[in-house]
Amino acid sequence: MQLAESRGLILFSRDYKEKDKLVKIFTESAGKQMFYVKGVHKKNNPLTSVLQNFTEATFIMNLKSDGLSFLNGAKEIKPLTVIQQDIFLAGYSTYLLNLADAAIEDRVYDPHLYQFLSLCLNLINEGYDAEIITNIFEVQILQRFGVAPIFDHCVICGQTTGRFDYSSKYGGVLCTEHFSNDDHRYHADPAAMHFIRLFHGIDLSKVKTININSQVKKEIRRVIDQLYEEYVGIHLKSKRFIDDMHNWQNLMKPEA
Ligand SMILES: [Zn+2]
Repeated sequence: MQLAESRGLILFSRDYKEKDKLVKIFTESAGKQMFYVKGVHKKNNPLTSVLQNFTEATFIMNLKSDGLSFLNGAKEIKPLTVIQQDIFLAGYSTYLLNLADAAIEDRVYDPHLYQFLSLCLNLINEGYDAEIITNIFEVQILQRFGVAPIFDHCVICGQTTGRFDYSSKYGGVLCTEHFSNDDHRYHADPAAMHFIRLFHGIDLSKVKTININSQVKKEIRRVIDQLYEEYVGIHLKSKRFIDDMHNWQNLMKPEA
């Protein structure tokens, strides 16, 4: 056993036996780890509040090289309260947590992914557009799934400005000059492609605002779905949830 302290984000927790819980935490210094937490349903257990979804904290852990690790305590607890209280934001955030969980193996040290996930969730919690943050996260973590489509220049001539479309055949974007090289290119809206290229290269820690109209957002969603279908091929329940959310959001809008 190894005693360690690390920042971490709760990925999920579930009840185990009568009084205990199994909790999966993405830690900054030891990757994703599964913990066994005893007596968590008892009153006054200091760990109860920290085990809520959408909470970031410094965890004090007993790490085991295989099997379940143990959680000894937590400090500097930061619940992402805005996300916790909003079903839509919680939907997007759950999807980001699930994607991070799917993208790398357990116990793999990946502080960069941890920090990126933490940054995205904190931005959503601060009121940044959850849909756009989600798209940026999706585009930037493609490489964790072992794929590296080329977005920054035309794969044939290196052109970096103008209109682009995506080509599976070439594994990257084509400029208008080279659209004819692939009849089966995505035929995506150029505005959507513009933003996806931007999302791929953007440093989120420096972004102030990005405004995108709902029509273009819809097309961005469609293109990223196509990329994920083609290269990643996972179907997360939380993704279906956010797709369905758009339908309720429209239902809940007052009729014009
Ligand atoms: Zn070209």
